Amino acid sequence: MIDAKTEVYGIIGHPVSHSLSPTIQNFAFCYHKINAVYLAFDVIDLESAIRGIRGLGIKGVSVTIPHKVSVIPLLDRLDELAERTGAVNTILNKDGLLIGYNTDCLGAILAIKEKADIEGKDYVILGAGGAARAIGFGLKKEGANIIIINRTYEKGEALARALGGRSYPWGRIREISGYGLINATPIGMWPNVEQIPISKEYLRNFKVVMDAVYNPLETRLLREAKRLGLVTIDGLKMLVYQGVAQFKIWTGRDAPKEEMLKVAREILRIKEL
Ligand code: NAP
Repeated sequence: MIDAKTEVYGIIGHPVSHSLSPTIQNFAFCYHKINAVYLAFDVIDLESAIRGIRGLGIKGVSVTIPHKVSVIPLLDRLDELAERTGAVNTILNKDGLLIGYNTDCLGAILAIKEKADIEGKDYVILGAGGAARAIGFGLKKEGANIIIINRTYEKGEALARALGGRSYPWGRIREISGYGLINATPIGMWPNVEQIPISKEYLRNFKVVMDAVYNPLETRLLREAKRLGLVTIDGLKMLVYQGVAQFKIWTGRDAPKEEMLKVAREILRIKEL
């Protein structure tokens, strides 16, 4: 029951109406019988929103597009991963001190570690945007060798340099092989569900294939990889597991990740009907 002691959490972004986070975080609060509620705030004026978090004593928020980078100067402190990736997707209000974290990294690593090795392995990441950055820094921290392939070569090269890795132009995608391949571009995302970032014959150059795209749940890339018997990791796991890491930061408790995953899968399945 919501009462005078209910703690408030939420997500700030624009747009946010499609977000799965309110459903999975409220599920976790209910599961642990924590008197808290998680709401979606469509935020354009970021400075006012951050002042509001301080003024209203909101306990924690998720930060999504387009505020992940611009929120940084408005915070009091950053944790190491947020500092290194240059992006914040989680804020903890610790007795009035706003601390920024990046759990996209943790979410990706948790999802990958469930099914694949990381240390000493060569991972090829397609893309150099927010998702590629988070996944790249997470993998690098765990000891992987990173190869970035991006449509805009200069952006890919800059990210590869920051990660101590290598980069190649998009046109050379078919010459590259490695242990893992990760799509961190929107290719294959609804409604362009028949798109695939790399021709299926070149998928044999890899053992593990991950897609950051989670809508649809099974992208064409993952479908083709499965057909070849490769290990596949879907984007929903990364999404839910970054939420699991947020829940831990806010409450100190372990979120029910399997149940949260089930709820998120069900919502996406209904949306696809
Ligand atoms: P972003 O910051 O806008 O970056 C997009 C990247 O994809 C850029 O490197 C861009 O290349 C490249 N790209 C876009 N369209 C392309 C195309 N048609 N062909 C080749 N490359 C293309 O976006 P983001 O936040 O990284 O998100 C990327 C994808 O990951 C989205 O589908 C998003 O939904 C998903 N995502 C998933 C999670 C999760 O938890 N599962 C988290 C974050 C994002 P240029 O540099 O050339 O523009």
